[in-house]
Amino acid sequence: MEYAERIKKLPPYLFAELDRKIAQKRKEGVDVISFGVGDPDLPTPEHIVKAACDATKKPENHRYPSYEGMLAFREAVAERYRRDFGVELDPEKEVIALIGSKEGVHNIHFAFVNPGDVVLYPDPGYPVYRTGPLFAGGEAYAMPLRKENNFLPDLEAIPRDKVKKAKMMWINYPNNPTAAVAEAEFYREVIDFAQDNDIIVCSDEAYSAIAFDGYRVRSFLEFEGAREVGIAIDSLSKAYNMTGWRIAYAAGNSEVIAGLGKVKTNVDSGASQIIQEAAIAALRGSQECVRENVRIYQERRDVLVRGLRKLGFNVDKPKATFYLWMEVPDGNSMAFAEKLLEAGVVVTPGVGFGEHGEGFVRFALTQPVARIEEALERMERVV
Ligand SMILES: *Cc1c(COP(=O)(O)O)cnc(C)c1O
Repeated sequence: MEYAERIKKLPPYLFAELDRKIAQKRKEGVDVISFGVGDPDLPTPEHIVKAACDATKKPENHRYPSYEGMLAFREAVAERYRRDFGVELDPEKEVIALIGSKEGVHNIHFAFVNPGDVVLYPDPGYPVYRTGPLFAGGEAYAMPLRKENNFLPDLEAIPRDKVKKAKMMWINYPNNPTAAVAEAEFYREVIDFAQDNDIIVCSDEAYSAIAFDGYRVRSFLEFEGAREVGIAIDSLSKAYNMTGWRIAYAAGNSEVIAGLGKVKTNVDSGASQIIQEAAIAALRGSQECVRENVRIYQERRDVLVRGLRKLGFNVDKPKATFYLWMEVPDGNSMAFAEKLLEAGVVVTPGVGFGEHGEGFVRFALTQPVARIEEALERMERVV
């Protein structure tokens, strides 16, 4: 069978490669400790699971859902933006349900990208920002995230011809994989840039709920002019340990939302109402479960940072996300990850998130404290 060109052009999927290596180690009998994949190890809170169980028994939820999501779900999203960011959204026109944010990140390119159009994306970054434009026939252009610029893209450094051809740009704060955060000044700069150059901004805010030490995450939508130029995409996956449920949303500019909706009408038939009812319970219920999650990640972060510093590594304490982004001593992230794998510890080589991720590895804080301590002991033997 001959694959289509667009499949042949794809970079290898990072986590598939990693999974193969872990599986091989496990086959050899090694008790592998994986900090590799950004998938919460904690279960979905009980009240959310119960809402789904109750929703399963309602016959109206056994039928096709609406394409754009239940109004009650979109209203719950609007309430969340009012509560957390002081942003007023029209749930009918400015919010759409997604089957996980990955779906929306991929599909939105089909609404706006023509052959020859450029999509600006952060490197290192979530792989779909690069593959989405490729699938849609556009050109993905990397904006390097460098340590000396606090892992923010340097908009001035983007070549003029790329800016001219740019139709969309991706930003992602709190950031995966670097764990960096963005302040008001950056969002204002992005909005000015987008207005001046007629670019649609897509702000992936999947980690908006995971912040430490009282740090307040800002949403792109909080800033003046944001809704004229773009949208935010957020997910229940990380905030409520719901990666397996596949539920997220896009919010902001009504034309962008409508464009995404047009694509989705032809691709999927909407998110299950059972899952949407669970999501409503999550968004409208007590947020204590999110605070508890954050406390757990914060303790893990502190144990890992302390341990890595004791081993002689220079590592910053992240303000948000459940990742740690660490510079490796000799600059070769793949070699460093392989060295740790010899001790049965899995980290993600930064180069897998794009060429500008080289020199770093990512730890996901998705292991309990005892396993983190065990991993640190093992690392001491190999580094
Ligand atoms: C986890 C993650 C997502 C995907 O979330 P889903 O809603 O589960 O698809 C999107 N963007 C980033 C940056 C992520 O890390």
